[in-house]
Amino acid sequence: MATVLVLVTTAEGAATAASAQALTLGRELAAGGPVHALVFGDDAAAASLGAWGATHVHVASHPGLGSGAPDAQARVVCDLAASLDAAFVIGPGTEDGNTVLARAAARAGLPFAANCIRVTAGSPVSVTRVRWGGSLLEEAAIHADRAMLTVAPHAVAASSTGGAATVEAFTPQLDDADLAVRVVGRVPAPTGGVSLADATVVVSGGRGAGSAEGFAPVVELAELLGAAVGCSRAVTIAGWRPHTEQVGQTGTKIAPDMYIACGISGATQHMAGARGAKRVLAINKDPEAPIMTSADYAVIGDLHAVLPAISAEIRRVREAG
Ligand SMILES: Cc1cc2nc3c(=O)[nH]c(=O)nc-3n(C[C@H](O)[C@H](O)[C@H](O)COP(=O)(O)OP(=O)(O)OC[C@H]3O[C@@H](n4cnc5c(N)ncnc54)[C@H](O)[C@@H]3O)c2cc1C
Repeated sequence: MATVLVLVTTAEGAATAASAQALTLGRELAAGGPVHALVFGDDAAAASLGAWGATHVHVASHPGLGSGAPDAQARVVCDLAASLDAAFVIGPGTEDGNTVLARAAARAGLPFAANCIRVTAGSPVSVTRVRWGGSLLEEAAIHADRAMLTVAPHAVAASSTGGAATVEAFTPQLDDADLAVRVVGRVPAPTGGVSLADATVVVSGGRGAGSAEGFAPVVELAELLGAAVGCSRAVTIAGWRPHTEQVGQTGTKIAPDMYIACGISGATQHMAGARGAKRVLAINKDPEAPIMTSADYAVIGDLHAVLPAISAEIRRVREAG
């Protein structure tokens, strides 16, 4: 049995998918011991965390924490982990989770293992973690009394226990220095409501789209399917689509049931972000494009002809039905 502390990020009153995955791993590592969840300021989400295996939820509220302050959050993580004598401190392997836990580990003088896909308790704790955008798996040992790590998105399937947790609100002790780095504004993503990281269908376009305007059939198909729009780095570099839509090593890691890649060659750095896709449909005019080795289905042709034809057929079937 071990005491585990999990940093939980929330959205719309619930744990994010990545945090539910971190809680699931935390529950496994606790092996019947207490699983403490730490949330910042979201009372609404606190009660729901028992369902993911949290036994105790700590809600930290402080005026300075409102919009996000990674050093301050790191201090709260450190102080709480020390007071609980936690053997594991776990966070979601998202930008926010990695930022806060890296700072917390540095503050505590402890090693930090980011983006783990497997964690085995023991002395030392052994981990397998994703490096270089998924092209390398590293086996590592954490030689410390407290293992600080994040879970790579989609590496653990979140499973609910349907349990309940005790909830306790507190005001952490923070100094001005802890609040030196703060989020002062947020720019909403210019896409529709479907989150790229969590979408069950993603329709992406690459350089083959030809231009910003050439992306229209990609967006049209995504809208028809209720899918998220993605793209390759060639597209974001050209300024045709925003970086928030980039899939890959330096973009978002996705794990949809279906990934529809249009006019994308399938470079290693792109596929590093799409490795979690259950099925890949490649639409490309080059039958020798590297993406064909990852594709379950392929349509060889010009995306500007193929995509409108698919969209037209979807509309025809829906209108007929
Ligand atoms: C450190 C590093 C990090 C990187 N990170 C990322 C990342 O996160 N994400 C990412 O995507 N890339 C990343 N890259 C870039 C990556 O190496 C590729 O350059 C990029 O993915 C290529 O984008 P693309 O497939 O759209 O373009 P291309 O490789 O040029 O491929 C275009 C494809 O479109 C096809 N095509 C052309 N016209 C049509 C048409 N009309 N209809 C159908 N098919 C057509 C072509 O046959 C070709 O296969 C990274 C590179 C480096 C060095």
